[in-house]
Amino acid sequence: MATQSIARPLTGRVAVVTGASSGIGAAAAEHLAELGARVAVLARRAERLDDLVARIEKNGGQALALAADVTDKTALLAAADRVAAEFGGADLLFNNAGVMLPAPIEELATDQWQRQIDLNVSGLMNTIAAFTPQLVRAAAERGVADLINTSSIAAQNIFPNFAVYSATKAYVTHLSRHLRAELGTKKVRVAAIEPGIVATELQSHVTDQGAREWLQDSKETMEWLTPQDIAQTVGFLASLPPRANLQQVTIMPTGQPS
Ligand code: NDP
Repeated sequence: MATQSIARPLTGRVAVVTGASSGIGAAAAEHLAELGARVAVLARRAERLDDLVARIEKNGGQALALAADVTDKTALLAAADRVAAEFGGADLLFNNAGVMLPAPIEELATDQWQRQIDLNVSGLMNTIAAFTPQLVRAAAERGVADLINTSSIAAQNIFPNFAVYSATKAYVTHLSRHLRAELGTKKVRVAAIEPGIVATELQSHVTDQGAREWLQDSKETMEWLTPQDIAQTVGFLASLPPRANLQQVTIMPTGQPS
């Protein structure tokens, strides 16, 4: 195994990042590669992934594009097989793909409710199902592995009209706490990251006019986090000594009150 260094503490590790074609996932993939990990990047938009792989390789890293939809269990199992075949299996999963579609509940936007549940809950679980065996195996072999789930500050706070999104993220946070207790005994650390507002494509999918105005107003009155801020947090969690599991991280824009 390659030697670790302070500058590249993830040398020798293999990371899988979902939602890697934009925003937080893309930044995390680049940062984990900078820290020395080989990175498998997963999302639906294949061209974006190819560009990301090219950027990582240009900077001296190694990456693998996995064009897949996380709501498709079979595709995820095939992706896990490719990671095993090409990189020998994952020891770090950044389970990050998600969508936010706020709307007043009385509008009964049931298709949007379902999209959020399918991606933020079922897609997250499909990814856990596909990669947990690799994480457990890697932890047994090398003494540590990481499962880092992207939740949101919405898991804790009340934002009117964000009920379904918030509930999916409360699921992610609570699930992560349970899995930490369950998998920690097998040396798999589990963490939930709960960001406040981060400037990504997430906001561009919002169709509700009230929520769009609220977001626009927020953008004008505070400096949002950048995807790189979250990427650094992911890198920090994975670089801690194997005995230390930072269970839950809330990272807010300094100017965001709640
Ligand atoms: P983006 O919209 O930029 O990224 C979402 C990513 O998810 C994209 O790469 C997208 O790729 C991928 N994705 C969407 N649907 C699927 C699917 N069915 N299968 C596979 N991949 C999919 O937003 P963010 O980077 O902001 O979002 C990342 C995570 O951060 C989400 O879980 C979000 O809820 C969370 N979060 C974001 C905050 C913010 O303010 N931005 C705050 C708190 C949490 P593609 O379309 O190519 O499949």
